Amino acid sequence: MKLIDGKAIANAVKSEIANEVRKMIDAEQKVPHLAAVLVGNDPASETYIASKERACKEVGFTSSIYKLSEQTTENELLKTIDFLNNDDEVDGYIVQLPLPKHIDTNKIISAIDPKKDVDGFHPQNVGRMVMDMPCFLPATPAGIMTLLERSNIETEGKHCVVLGRSNIVGTPAAILLSRNSKKANCTVTLCHSRTKNLKELCLSADILIAAIGKPEFVTADMVKDGVVVIDVGIHRVEDNSEKGYKITGDVKFDEVAPKCSFITPVPGGVGPTTIVSLLTNTLKAAKKEVY
Ligand code: NAP
Repeated sequence: MKLIDGKAIANAVKSEIANEVRKMIDAEQKVPHLAAVLVGNDPASETYIASKERACKEVGFTSSIYKLSEQTTENELLKTIDFLNNDDEVDGYIVQLPLPKHIDTNKIISAIDPKKDVDGFHPQNVGRMVMDMPCFLPATPAGIMTLLERSNIETEGKHCVVLGRSNIVGTPAAILLSRNSKKANCTVTLCHSRTKNLKELCLSADILIAAIGKPEFVTADMVKDGVVVIDVGIHRVEDNSEKGYKITGDVKFDEVAPKCSFITPVPGGVGPTTIVSLLTNTLKAAKKEVY
């Protein structure tokens, strides 16, 4: 079994990005600027935003955060979006999800200028992704592709089972993995809560992507020997340790790992490459490589 070191892969990509930034500085160009909009005080969102800010610093990007209160109205948020769409200083920005319930998430995402939509959630970027046109890829599935590619994992002709069909992970991951490209070319089965023969399908997977948001859902009896497992889930589960909790994924790591040819740990697998994909998109936005 080989552990896929997401941190090491992310660090390699970050140093490539930092090199690009140095070249931009040498050429007296503006460095890329990533902004983030955070509505409310969700602790998980605050942690994500802080790690994005740290990552920006590491590669030499400018970063800024627009913190809005939980009570912010949809119109007020739309005004912030309009401001960011028109601010030439900002190359790309994200609106941290989830948004408070009184705000229509799709309306907000659709208001983001697709040229600055570095999360890749705007319908125009999603459509372009489906058509294999230049676009900003959603960060988590793009990170999964980076993990597979940089670990030299053969994907062509493999059966890939994706657990979970969310718009931000499962569905785009299934699209990217089934693309006609040497880095993909998988035969993909996309599973969800209504899938009937889930265990049987998992057992036939050469590559299993677990993105269902259920701690330790995938157990050893669900995978075949030699499988590649990418665990997207991230959960804080109470235990008897000093901290009182442990971080776990959607896969029961201890019992599944011995059967795998490759597996991502949680933490330190998909998480680091997700953030790096956001940086990659921001660099592309700054260099106007997509639009
Ligand atoms: P989500 O929006 O909650 O989607 C979960 C998906 O799993 C849904 O499609 C759901 O099916 C399916 N599902 C739920 N229970 C199932 C079951 N028993 N059998 C089969 N399918 C089932 O989740 P998400 O946003 O994609 O996130 C998934 C996990 O990844 C979460 O733990 C999240 O925290 C984590 N995540 C990590 C990163 C990272 O960077 N590491 C990034 C994003 C998300 P239905 O569609 O039928 O409801």
